[in-house]
Amino acid sequence: MNRRDFSPPPGPPALAAEFLVSAADRRQFPAPERPEVALMGRSNAGKSSLLNRFLGRRALARVGSSPGRTRQINFFRVVFRREDRPFLLADLPGGRPLRMALLLMDIRRDPSPDEFGLLDWLAGLGLPAWLVATKADKLGWGEAAARLRRIAGLLGAAAQARPPLAFSSVTGQGRAELVAGLIDSGLLDWAPPPETTP
Ligand code: GDP
Repeated sequence: MNRRDFSPPPGPPALAAEFLVSAADRRQFPAPERPEVALMGRSNAGKSSLLNRFLGRRALARVGSSPGRTRQINFFRVVFRREDRPFLLADLPGGRPLRMALLLMDIRRDPSPDEFGLLDWLAGLGLPAWLVATKADKLGWGEAAARLRRIAGLLGAAAQARPPLAFSSVTGQGRAELVAGLIDSGLLDWAPPPETTP
């Protein structure tokens, strides 16, 4: 039997998710008045695919868009469930009210100095970071588990607070954990920012 048959049901889509703005420079960033989550990872890591799968939208974010375009930061406004307050998802650190960074990388790769550097930098900022190992469906279940253990081992202390998560935008594997870790955890609970730092 195909291991995909065991994937958890994807769960209901986000109540509301809308594209806000594609910002070429910081003057176009939305006002910093909601909690934000940053999606990070090199081109092709699976950021757009995760966003679409996580929110239950077929094509909110473009997948596999042509490389070499001017890099823009896309902001999405999300209300996950009726009782939830809105938060913003940005496909790069949008700055100020960041609550969490999701660092995406292909599960078949080992973390590179880029990823280690980014995790160090985020730790220095005191920002919780969660490594998401994408494209888990490209491997068998045992192999994916072994890769995840290896990645966790290589990350060492950098992954202690939050063990790396295996994710697939194809099967929905890992989505329930993302919902639990982001939406249900209280991490995005909204309170007016104490002081807005630039
Ligand atoms: P981005 O550049 O980080 O936004 O990456 P994309 O979401 O555009 O994905 C890059 C490529 O990897 C596309 O061809 C996707 O279809 C593919 N991809 C992304 N996530 C997955 C996944 O979980 N499983 C599989 N099999 N392919 C994926």
